[in-house]
Amino acid sequence: MKSKIWLSSPHMGGNELTYIQEAFDTNWIAPLGPNVYGFEKDLETYLGEDSHIACLASGTAAIHLALVELGVTHGDLVLCQSFTFCGSANPIVYAGATPVFVDSEETTWNMSPEYLEIAIKESISKGKKPKAILMVHLYGMPAKIDELLKIANAYEIPIIEDAAEALGSTYKGQKCGTFGAYSILSFNGNKIITTSGGGALVCRNEEQKKRTVFLATQARDNAPHYQHTEIGYNYRMSNIVAGIGRGQMEVLDKHVGYRRDVNQMYAELFKDVEGITLLQESSDDYFSNHWLSSIRVNANKTGFTREEFRLALLEENIESRPLWKPMHLQPVFEKCDFYGEGICEKLFDSGLCLPSGSNLTIEEKNRIKEVIRAFLALKEIN
Ligand SMILES: *Cc1c(COP(=O)(O)O)cnc(C)c1O
Repeated sequence: MKSKIWLSSPHMGGNELTYIQEAFDTNWIAPLGPNVYGFEKDLETYLGEDSHIACLASGTAAIHLALVELGVTHGDLVLCQSFTFCGSANPIVYAGATPVFVDSEETTWNMSPEYLEIAIKESISKGKKPKAILMVHLYGMPAKIDELLKIANAYEIPIIEDAAEALGSTYKGQKCGTFGAYSILSFNGNKIITTSGGGALVCRNEEQKKRTVFLATQARDNAPHYQHTEIGYNYRMSNIVAGIGRGQMEVLDKHVGYRRDVNQMYAELFKDVEGITLLQESSDDYFSNHWLSSIRVNANKTGFTREEFRLALLEENIESRPLWKPMHLQPVFEKCDFYGEGICEKLFDSGLCLPSGSNLTIEEKNRIKEVIRAFLALKEIN
């Protein structure tokens, strides 16, 4: 059996262990310490735009705290892109609120401004104005940010920007992770940079950051004993894994470059293939980190389905994966409202994420190209 080619696997830069060793040498084995502060500083410098960052245990925890800080509570509605990972939507339920799902549009695959506005208007007409909007940049592709912000501002509903997959992407030259009332990042094992597990809440001022750290460390009041007037959470990032993050920040831009090269490889591979479309930037306003290179397969034109293609790759021990299954189609959210025309369902039915790691070797890339070319040639003959 040929060695496995993964969809996206951790890619260390080299200095991660140095930072971890420092933590051991100084005995900072805790959910705070120099690596946490250093990683936060690195991220703040990277994102700019007066970002104030609290590193947390996960991206999911970051979304939960953003909702808590925006005052989302029992009985509230939160609008959420349906086409996403469950980590975007689950925290809405943790907060006691109800998600209302919104369809995608065709160019970025992210939230449709048109259906966002319809969802807001209908929710208001039913007697409840949504408390927040969860906007996602899937696979690294920035959403139609200007259009979405314009609607959010018109109805005075704050946006939580889920940039879990989009660190290193930009929209009109501004970094993803700086557009929301709050923004979140994830450093899970397969993300563009990883700390094995972790996330961050990007705040817009120092007060919000202080509040985040307070809530993330069990909401301990200022007293010599342990005193609490609010419910807190144990959501802070460990100083050990923050060391991995510091090492990863040194190679972030390089790794974005590698992922974009992989995307270019697929662009060339599929450029003359009728019925296969690669997700790419629709104009110069968009710059994607291309975390995962993803295609749509139009079976009427190609003569094969997404699933046949996936299985052919699997046979050669190459991992690929269907796109995210929309949240409104998940059994756990089946009672939730959905506004749209099923574009995200079509994406789910026809879409596939291809191996996209920044650590793919030349041999692995060649193997991918050969396997895909052979499959396409076979299908053309039949
Ligand atoms: C990974 C991811 C999250 C959650 O991040 P975790 O760190 O895994 O909790 C949220 N939203 C999206 C779109 C993601 O891809």
